[in-house]
Amino acid sequence: MKHAVVTGGSGFLGSHLSKRLLSEGYKVTVLDNFITGSPDNVADVIDNPAFTLIEQDVIQPFTVDGPVDVVFHLASPASPVDFPTKPIEILQVNSVGTHNALELARVNGARFLIASTSEVYGDPLVHPQPETYWGNVNPIGIRGVYDESKRFGESITMAYRRFKGVDSRIFRIFNTYGPNMRLDDGRVVPNFIGQALRGEPITVYGTGQQTRSFCFVRDLIEGIFRFSELDGNHSGPVNLGNPTERTMLEFAQEIKRLTESSSEIVYQELPTSDDPKQRRPDLTVAKALLNWEPVVSLEDGLLETIAYFKGKVGND
Ligand code: UDP
Repeated sequence: MKHAVVTGGSGFLGSHLSKRLLSEGYKVTVLDNFITGSPDNVADVIDNPAFTLIEQDVIQPFTVDGPVDVVFHLASPASPVDFPTKPIEILQVNSVGTHNALELARVNGARFLIASTSEVYGDPLVHPQPETYWGNVNPIGIRGVYDESKRFGESITMAYRRFKGVDSRIFRIFNTYGPNMRLDDGRVVPNFIGQALRGEPITVYGTGQQTRSFCFVRDLIEGIFRFSELDGNHSGPVNLGNPTERTMLEFAQEIKRLTESSSEIVYQELPTSDDPKQRRPDLTVAKALLNWEPVVSLEDGLLETIAYFKGKVGND
């Protein structure tokens, strides 16, 4: 049985990845301090003998009973509402935490995969974004704590690859949504769906003309899993996301339609500076390397997500 360690494995993406790995016959150990994740996300597998959940802040030294075959480093708050409220935690988990996770991979001779982000491209001046683009990041802006620490995470991952021989792989996640997102996460998908289901105004920030491209979580996990299983020597980075781009105003209208909500759409000031004006992945590398591209339509993915949030609204 192969053994995978997933940092942040009870968060939104980590919980889906952990369950996929279990279904593929892996033994899975999750390390999470529950700063944004929750044991509830993995409650359905907690009694599975192949699954272990350990409360652990990965910025503190830790060991895991080996051998370990693969480390997935997903731990980090990732919502823009976390950037001003958990800035030091974000900087620490993506620096010290990444160092600790890399050490775990090194001592076990394990493969190491790091969840990086489209935020490494900042407010991009190249569109869509290929992996070769170096980005347009403001290091001293509110988003800098996330963007720069994720960039550092990529750098230390490459240093461990080049100088310590770790078989490392970097993937860059673009906006992803689906069940197990927190209703109060603050990102646009739970905000709009929660507001629409409660009949509250749907809050479009700024002009609503900024764009994003949304990937359903099942598609994203398929891409991560294929990358982890790929034979050969592949450092990445590889973009993973969905290339269908929409303005936030169009997105609000789509959610209003799919929830059959009577909510009005209102405009509010942008809460964080440097909000990227456009974002869409160039998936050329992912398609060639992984033979992967998203298959779930926005409508189908949103309907599944809306059904999940319907069970949460009213209990929040
Ligand atoms: N946004 C919005 N209303 C909200 C929450 C977010 O219009 O209630 C916008 C936000 O300004 C950004 C986009 O939606 O342009 C995506 O925001 P999110 O927080 O989901 O993540 P980001 O892609 O900015 O990291």
